[in-house]
Amino acid sequence: MLKLRMKRGVHPPEQKISASKAIQEFPLPKQVVIPFSQHTGKPATPLVKKRQEVKTGEKIGEAAGFISAPVHSSVTGKVKGLETVLLPNGNSTLGAIIEVTGEDEFADPTWPIKDVSTLTPDEVRQIAREAGIVGLGGAVFPTSVKISPPREYPIDSVIVNGSECEPYLTSDHRLMVEHAEEIFQAAELLRNTVGASRGYIAIEDNKPDAIEAFQKVLNGVKGWEVVSLKTRYPQGAEKSLIKVILNREVPMGGLPFHVGALVQNVGTLFALYEAATRGIPLIRRVVTVTGDGVNEPSNFMVRIGTNAREVLEAAGADLENAEKIIFGGPMMGVSVKSVDIPVIKSTSGILVMRTARKPKVYPCLYCGKCVVACPLHITPTRLVKYIQAEMWDQAKEFGLFNCMECGCCSYVCPSNIPLVHWIRYGKFMVRSMEAK
Ligand code: SF4
Ligand code: SF4
Repeated sequence: MLKLRMKRGVHPPEQKISASKAIQEFPLPKQVVIPFSQHTGKPATPLVKKRQEVKTGEKIGEAAGFISAPVHSSVTGKVKGLETVLLPNGNSTLGAIIEVTGEDEFADPTWPIKDVSTLTPDEVRQIAREAGIVGLGGAVFPTSVKISPPREYPIDSVIVNGSECEPYLTSDHRLMVEHAEEIFQAAELLRNTVGASRGYIAIEDNKPDAIEAFQKVLNGVKGWEVVSLKTRYPQGAEKSLIKVILNREVPMGGLPFHVGALVQNVGTLFALYEAATRGIPLIRRVVTVTGDGVNEPSNFMVRIGTNAREVLEAAGADLENAEKIIFGGPMMGVSVKSVDIPVIKSTSGILVMRTARKPKVYPCLYCGKCVVACPLHITPTRLVKYIQAEMWDQAKEFGLFNCMECGCCSYVCPSNIPLVHWIRYGKFMVRSMEAK
């Protein structure tokens, strides 16, 4: 087995307190709220009206362009209305409110269901598209687009991303332990779809049971290898994984296909497996509920659209005394003010923190620690100075849009300068100005 490690980045306390908790099926909610925008790209176009009855898995929103994805009802019920709903990132969008009327009655899939070994590449792309599959590692980029690279960029390597390098989160870990076979079948399907000759299953070494599960599944399969990665953050970022495993640098502004690679998160692959073999679109996902404000850290399989408050209460979250509630991990997640928001496709975990750091900020010491930590060789201190001075052209030249917002620079800064917040602000400002 290959053993590799990332050179830069950081190693925050892992805090994987829910790692041994098996995935529990979360009970059917009474109501779901399904936003039409849960992915990168244009929001889906609604296909349903008020009072319309819908089945579980029925398409209720159509992809509105090449970079878009459809959305499906996660329950059997009646549409109460179409309303503006709040998303975890603070934005709002149109969503369907669906009242559950009974047990699941499944809609027929809008793609072919047959022996997966006979699926053509175009059929796999059709399944990924029709089933609303998007990257569940956080980027929520439509998978059908990702597996359709331009012809001039052939893919030779597929990397299954099981690194889950964010502290606290364990949803991918549990999926790998409990569903390694299904994840591998979907990975093989993708490898054939893009015509890659090699495949790697990349897992950090703080998940030895997941490594073992895949070693058992692979057992002599040609073209595939399990790679054990020394635990390091943000190793699970696509560009970091490609550098560590293939020793290739994705160019600034480039994508993995530019260097012949396709990276897919294990949750995405499990969703693809369910779509290809069972005809079920992306209507549920594993969500870790954890943090020092949670009595029973858990991993739940939750229907998309379930109210986050119900999920938190099921894990015994002490919401009254919570200092901070974060959707996602502590490094890249977003802090929310209300928990009355739906679980969406990107919700890998919800953290409830009873104690949250609010450190005093001091002037820059020019110590260079942020420069050493940055996995993308950006000079964060200089980039932030350009942003603070509103020198947007220089900020762009210095890698503003190359930054993946991993937060390593902020994490190591002895002056507690919120560098990544400044970078997010800089991106927002430049995008707003360019949109005008
Ligand atoms: S500049 Fe961006 S990519 Fe580099 S460490 Fe900071 S947040 Fe991460
Ligand atoms: S780590 Fe903080 S104090 Fe050190 S150079 Fe970077 S911004 Fe300045």
